[in-house]
Amino acid sequence: MMLELEGVEGAYGHARALHGIGLVVDEGEVVCIVGRNGAGKTSTLRSIVQDIITVTGGHVRFRGEDLVGLGPHEVVRRGIGYVPEDRRVFANLTVTENLTVPRSFEAGGHWTQARVEELFPPLAEFRSRLAGNLSGGQQQMLSIARSLLTTPRLLLLDEPHEGLAPLVARSVVEAIGNLKSLGVSMLLSEQQLHLVHETADRIYVVDRGRVVFSGTVAEFDRDEEVARRYLMVAG
Ligand code: ATP
Repeated sequence: MMLELEGVEGAYGHARALHGIGLVVDEGEVVCIVGRNGAGKTSTLRSIVQDIITVTGGHVRFRGEDLVGLGPHEVVRRGIGYVPEDRRVFANLTVTENLTVPRSFEAGGHWTQARVEELFPPLAEFRSRLAGNLSGGQQQMLSIARSLLTTPRLLLLDEPHEGLAPLVARSVVEAIGNLKSLGVSMLLSEQQLHLVHETADRIYVVDRGRVVFSGTVAEFDRDEEVARRYLMVAG
C-alpha cells in the first residue's frame, strides 16, 4: 500500500480532534473521506502532511516510511501534494508566475505547464491574470495545477468543490476523473458525496474524529443506515 494511517490521534493544543484514524490508499486509487462539518476530514489530511495539527499517537506511513514528526515541506518532498481548503494561491502573482513557483522533486517529473493547461483550459486562457482576480473554481484549478507540478505520487484534496457553483464544481469533478485515468492516486475529503460518487473507488466515513464506515462505493450505497446516521443533517 502507498499510504497507511494506523490509530492516528491528533490535537490542536489541548483540544483533541482525531481519536484513532485508520485508513489506506493504494497505488492508483481515489479514496474519499466524507463526514459532516467538524467530523475530522480536514484534520485527517493535516495529520498526513504534518501541518497545523499535532499528531499525538499512531502512525502515518507513506511508502513504508513514518511521516510523524516531519515538517510539511519534508512531506511534500517525499511525493505528497496537498491542496488545502483555502487553496493558498499567490493572489498578487499571475497564473503563470504561480505555476513557476513549485519545483519538481522527482527527476524526470512529467508534469509541465503545458500539461496542466491541457487539464485545466482556463489556466491557459488567463495566463497573465492575477490569481487574486480568478474565480473560486479557477483558483481551485490553479492550486491543483501547482501541486501537480511537484509531480506528487499522491494528491490530497481538501473539499475541492466547496463553495463552487454547480457547473464549475462539475468541471473540477471532470478534472479529477481525468487525473484518475492518468493513474494519479488521490485522497480527497468531501461533504457532497454525489460529486465524487463516480470517481471514488472507496469511501471512509468519519464522525467525531473516528472512522465509522469504510468500504467500496457500492457497499456504501447498500448501507442506508450509515448515511442516515453520519451524513444527514441532524434535525
Ligand atoms: P469542515 O467540513 O468544517 O472542514 P471537517 O470534517 O474537515 O469539517 P475538521 O476541520 O477536521 O473537520 O475539525 C475537526 C475538529 O477539530 C472540530 O472540532 C474543529 O473545531 C477542530 N479544529 C479544526 N481546526 C482547528 C484549529 N485550527 N484549531 C482548533 N481546533 C480545530
